Amino acid sequence: MTQTVLAADFGGTHLRAAVVTSDGEVISRLDLATPEHAMPAEIVREVTSLLARAARDARPAPVAACIATAGLVNAEAGMVIFAPNIPGFRNVVLTTPLAAELGIPAFIENDASAAALGEFRFGAGRGSRNLVHATLGTGIGGGLVIEGRLYRGSQGLAGEIGHTIIDPSGPRCRCGSRGCIEAMASGVAFANRARILLDAGKSAVLHEIVGYRDPTGADLHRAAQLGDTLCEAEIRHGGHLLGLALGNLVNVLNPDTVTLSGGLLAMGDMLLQPMREAMDSLAYGPAAGTTVKLSTLGGDGGLLGAAAVAFEYMERR
Ligand SMILES: [Zn+2]
Repeated sequence: MTQTVLAADFGGTHLRAAVVTSDGEVISRLDLATPEHAMPAEIVREVTSLLARAARDARPAPVAACIATAGLVNAEAGMVIFAPNIPGFRNVVLTTPLAAELGIPAFIENDASAAALGEFRFGAGRGSRNLVHATLGTGIGGGLVIEGRLYRGSQGLAGEIGHTIIDPSGPRCRCGSRGCIEAMASGVAFANRARILLDAGKSAVLHEIVGYRDPTGADLHRAAQLGDTLCEAEIRHGGHLLGLALGNLVNVLNPDTVTLSGGLLAMGDMLLQPMREAMDSLAYGPAAGTTVKLSTLGGDGGLLGAAAVAFEYMERR
C-alpha cells in the first residue's frame, strides 16, 4: 500500500516542502524564500506552517515528516546545531514543535546524508547495498549508506567528504584546515582558480566571458569549452583531485556504487574522466570496478532525500 511522508529541504535561498509517496512521487509542492533575518522561533513557526499546508490535502495522510538541512544536525535530538545558510540558527530543536503541530513523528537530517539515502532508495543507487554519495557543488559534501542503512557516525559527521585533505600545503579551507578537497575542487575553488588566472592576465577567453565581475566555476568551464587550455587543465586537475578523495574513500569502505550529484556535473567528462581515472589508479584490487553513477533525482534530490529518511525511520520503528 502506498504511504506518504512530508519532506522539506532547507536550502540557502529556498525552503521547499512537499508530500512524497513511498514510490518516490513528489506531490503538493510548496516553496518559500528562506527567512534570512528572522529569529529562530519565527523560522520554526514558518517551517511548521509550510509543512502543515503541504500536508493539508494529502491522501493518504502523511505518516511522518523530515527536514533536510545543510550544516551540522543532531538527528537523535532533532536539533540543528549549526546551519551555515541561516545566521543565528544554532542549537535549535526543530522536531518537537513540528511533531506537536503536525501530530506525526518528525525527524531532521543533514542534507548530504539525506541525499545519499534518497539516491539509495529512489535514484541512481537503487539496488545497491553499500553506497557512497558525493555532492559536487559550491561546496563538496557526501553521505554513506552501509549495509542498506544511512550511516551517521557517532556525532552525525559521517560522509564529510569535502574535508578530505588532498594537499596539506594547499589553500585554506573554510573549516580551518589546508588543502581539503572542498578548497581545491569545489565550485568555489574553481571560481578562485579562475580569479587567479584573470589576475595574472593568463586567459583572454576567460576575461572576455567575465569582464569585471567575479568569475564562477561555470565561467572557467565555459572558457575551457571555448578552447582555453589553461582553464581546461584547471578543471582536469580538479577532477583528478576529486578522484583521489573518492578513491581513498572507496578503499576504506569498499562500496558497490558511488553516486554523484551537484552543479559541477555540468562540467561533464572534462571533470569526470580524470576523476574516474584517478579513482581507479589508487583503487585496491577489484575496487577499480566500482560503479559510478550520476544522480537521477535532479532538483528533487533534497526532498526525496528527506522523504527517504522519514520512510527509513518509520520502517525501523
Ligand atoms: Zn575543510
